[in-house]
Amino acid sequence: MGASKRMIELVALLNAYNYQYYVKNKPTVSDYEFDMLLKELETLEKQEGIILPTSPTQRVGSDLENEFKEVKREKVMGSIANCYDKDELLKWMQTVVPAGTEFTVGPKYDGTSCSLIYKDGELVQASTRGNGLVGSDITENARTIKSIPLSIPLSDDCEIRGEILMPKSSFQKLNKERLEQGLEPFANERNAAAGSIKQLNSRITAERNLIFRPFCVFCDNAKFEKQTEMTNFANSVGFCIDIQDFTSADPYEIIRYIEEFEQKYLKNMDYCMDGVVIKVNDLSWQEKLGYSQKVPYWAKAFKFKQESASTKLIGVDWFVGRTGKLTPVGILDTVNVDGSNISNVTLNNMNYINGLDIRLGSYVFVEKGGAVIPKVTGIDYERHILENYDFEKCTPIGEPFKCPVCGHPVVKKENADGDEGIHLYCTNKDCEAKVMARLEYFVSKDCMDIDGLGTKIMENLYKHNNVRNWYDLYTLKAEDLEYLGKNGQKIYENIQKSKDMPADRVLVSLGIPMIGKVAAKALLECYGNIKDIYTDIVDYHGDKLFAEKPIGTAASNELVAFVLDSDNEKLFANLFELLNCAYISNKPVGGPLEGKTLLATGTLENFPREEIKDSIINHGGKYASSVSKKLDYLIVGSKPGTSKVTKATELGIKMISESEYLDLIK
Ligand SMILES: [Zn+2]
Repeated sequence: MGASKRMIELVALLNAYNYQYYVKNKPTVSDYEFDMLLKELETLEKQEGIILPTSPTQRVGSDLENEFKEVKREKVMGSIANCYDKDELLKWMQTVVPAGTEFTVGPKYDGTSCSLIYKDGELVQASTRGNGLVGSDITENARTIKSIPLSIPLSDDCEIRGEILMPKSSFQKLNKERLEQGLEPFANERNAAAGSIKQLNSRITAERNLIFRPFCVFCDNAKFEKQTEMTNFANSVGFCIDIQDFTSADPYEIIRYIEEFEQKYLKNMDYCMDGVVIKVNDLSWQEKLGYSQKVPYWAKAFKFKQESASTKLIGVDWFVGRTGKLTPVGILDTVNVDGSNISNVTLNNMNYINGLDIRLGSYVFVEKGGAVIPKVTGIDYERHILENYDFEKCTPIGEPFKCPVCGHPVVKKENADGDEGIHLYCTNKDCEAKVMARLEYFVSKDCMDIDGLGTKIMENLYKHNNVRNWYDLYTLKAEDLEYLGKNGQKIYENIQKSKDMPADRVLVSLGIPMIGKVAAKALLECYGNIKDIYTDIVDYHGDKLFAEKPIGTAASNELVAFVLDSDNEKLFANLFELLNCAYISNKPVGGPLEGKTLLATGTLENFPREEIKDSIINHGGKYASSVSKKLDYLIVGSKPGTSKVTKATELGIKMISESEYLDLIK
């Protein structure tokens, strides 16, 4: 059986709405209307067991694990030579082609490059740049990006190349969420986009709000004569071009436009660009000029100046965090970037170090950018040459095989604890660095907020008082801390005081991966207390957790693993014994139904289906699941359930009509 006419119609309609919204930025229907049509399509797809390849229902991603197959390509996906100097650029424009030849200027997007293949007008493959000739197949993930059309009005085979970007606004939001979940923030939008497009689970990619901007088109039969025709073509088949190409045969005019571009677009667009790309517009000229080994002779990338500085990398420290993750921190000859002195930079992981070939003793470029932590962006080879200081003699940074703190072996884990990429972890459960980091996290401001427990004091507690776990803090007696003098008494009092920390803060303080402030609150809103969370997981396989889904699946899995870890049995026993863990709901309380429990039966005129439940909760009441003694009112609509009414009569529960309910909430 083929797809029904309605199904084909819906797919076309929804794709058109998507285009208006994500490409044209001019929504033509309300979100509600859109969702209703999408639901209709989903239902049809389920009924008929057919999903059209271009169906918008496929944009939400799936939980099936992707595997990134290799994609070999015929036309190399190269890069473009950079240039930072306007005089150099001017000279290039004046000499590369005869005077009067046209140039075109477009944005240099700061994201991750992607190639899209369309066959018979349908998107059949998307791949990353990889090494240029071989990339990774990211088709499933790319389908979730709404500014990538799933179909284009063209029967010829065609390849569109462009950049996948994370909007600045989404980046801010994502990093905020990651910090709240206790995850490391992404260094910048580019890393976030690259990380998001290589997710094993396309549903995560779908949530990241990535966008796509095209920069180049290859089409078997459409013979383009100019570069600008390519971008116009992409625009005409449904891709978003929000900065039009600028063309001119006058190099000075190009330079003036670049200055204007920087003013006009750089800060004002919701995605990152780090410069402009200047190309010879005439494709026959591009062909004549050809390529050097790696880069085309007919194009230059002019990079806008970022605040960056060059300095020597004098050492690398491996920092061990509370999960045991080893993070390389580069020690620099202190350098001033954009007004601040920088002497440490994150080097992320071995992939990053090897990718940039960062070596001990080498001159590196350091940038602050919009990032949280300063970073190394490359090697200053020029300075090595100028100072006659051989880069090749600098020592490569070795990968540690042992934990630098405890000496136990390290293992590699990919995408562990919500961290993307391959990282090294210390395997020793009792590693001093991990123990200390966990303790420091537990007492920190956002967790149990115990004043006076700085690094020095914590070291004392570790050495003199044998404090290994947070609960050891609560068994300390005042006299155990006498050796700390007056301070000891104060610390003792602060520890005692912290016993009253609310349950959500306690939950955060345990350092469970992915359980930060937001998740902890959501869990307690669902369960009311930590004990019930524990019981649900230990005795009922997390029935409630997975049925009511107060937090996401990945976070739920982390929570279950943590609770069921036999090492944490003692931790929970202590928690219930030593801490008060009261939870006060943050939900808006008050309202006319405060303290009342209600239930409705039968059909209500003003409240179709679940809406009565929302109304009760919104007015401060609780919605009961069944008739019991706890019930204050049973709202009786037309055709009520007889068993409910009988039971309420038996228990003497007050029954009210819909209009009486409306009076109650007035
Ligand atoms: Zn260790």
